[in-house]
Amino acid sequence: MNRTIALLCLAAAGATPAPAGEPAFDVTAYDVRIAPDFATQTVAGQTVIHFKSAAHGLKALSFSANALDVTASLSGEDMVGAEVQGDRRVFHLPRAMRKGETGRLTVSFKGKAPKGLVWTADTVYANYFTCDYMICDQDRPGDKAKIDVRITLPPGMEVIAPGRRIATSMTRGAQTTHWRSRRTLSGYLFGFAAGRFRRMDITDARIKLPVLAATSDSATVAQMFADTPRMLAFFEDRAGVRLPERAYTQVLVAGGEAQEAANHAIIGLDNIAPILENPHEDWVIAHELAHQWWGNAVTCADWSELWLNEGLTVFMVAAWKEQRWGRADYDRELELANKRWDAAKQQGFDVPLSWQGKYPSLRLKRAMAYAKAVVFLDLLRKELGEDAFWRGIKIYTRTHWDKTVRAQDLQHAFERSSKRDLASLFQTWVYGRM
Ligand SMILES: [Zn+2]
Repeated sequence: MNRTIALLCLAAAGATPAPAGEPAFDVTAYDVRIAPDFATQTVAGQTVIHFKSAAHGLKALSFSANALDVTASLSGEDMVGAEVQGDRRVFHLPRAMRKGETGRLTVSFKGKAPKGLVWTADTVYANYFTCDYMICDQDRPGDKAKIDVRITLPPGMEVIAPGRRIATSMTRGAQTTHWRSRRTLSGYLFGFAAGRFRRMDITDARIKLPVLAATSDSATVAQMFADTPRMLAFFEDRAGVRLPERAYTQVLVAGGEAQEAANHAIIGLDNIAPILENPHEDWVIAHELAHQWWGNAVTCADWSELWLNEGLTVFMVAAWKEQRWGRADYDRELELANKRWDAAKQQGFDVPLSWQGKYPSLRLKRAMAYAKAVVFLDLLRKELGEDAFWRGIKIYTRTHWDKTVRAQDLQHAFERSSKRDLASLFQTWVYGRM
């Protein structure tokens, strides 16, 4: 099993840091229409961005840059100048806006999304770089917003997009499905998948657990994903929160994908196939599913807190394995985390978990957010004891459900559950010594 590929599951770790000075506006909702064209592997569409100015004299809106051709207007009236400045796409407003004023930026777009979409002749899915195929902000996970997506496709194609499917219509021989998420989401979770997938249902769970398979026969798919209902039950129990969705969809594709999205995950065959030889090799299903709680619902406020998404998720996979396969599997995950952290230290690199500096490489950032974080969580578990530790996880998850978090939120949850002052422990591991 290639555990390096495993760690690609959230390429955010390598994303450009948020620009200096946060953009002075909040997005409240995205309304997206998109039509993927399989023949040209391009997209065309429109995003209406509902936003609120957070500053007096707001003159520009900026999002992640992408390669699309765009035209934009403000609140349906004035044309807006759009340009790419470095890694940002900036829209110059025709007039300054007051603090608290709301507006609607309508952006029409078309073109190729080189990083954001992965195509075959009859399937397409978004991977981590969602702001490559629409207008959104990859670098502001803290600006969560509701989203509506209407996807227009050739008839009969399967599709999964954020939220729930609320309508399907046919126009001029094309099928449009309308999806709506009433929960707020970070931009990197705006993925979708569409195409000629084979749909299968993994049963015996509280919610539907379909698999959309682009590869493998039905019996193999059933075998690979058979444990999903147990994992769902385990994470719901540990989190103290049931997934509010009606369904969680796993999209099985060729290659080494491992990417969580709004209410689905993209799973690469290379990552899941080892489970056929050894049922203990279940990490990719568990990891992406665990993100439905830690990452998707309880989301790091900015990428300097990536460990709150990834560290908790990797830790929860170890906890799942402990329950499913026994203590030796948990110990093995911890050993692996320690090894990765050690490798970074041997290179002379070790920083506190919520470090705000620029990482020299993606590998080193992951060594902290995915590995050192797990060692820290295991240490907290030993320090606090089973009862206080798991109650702390529940308090944290319930309190911050569908919100964004910083390390202090996790610290306070564990302090509440343990009635202990954890300031010095967090100072050492998370914030850095004063
Ligand atoms: Zn992950």
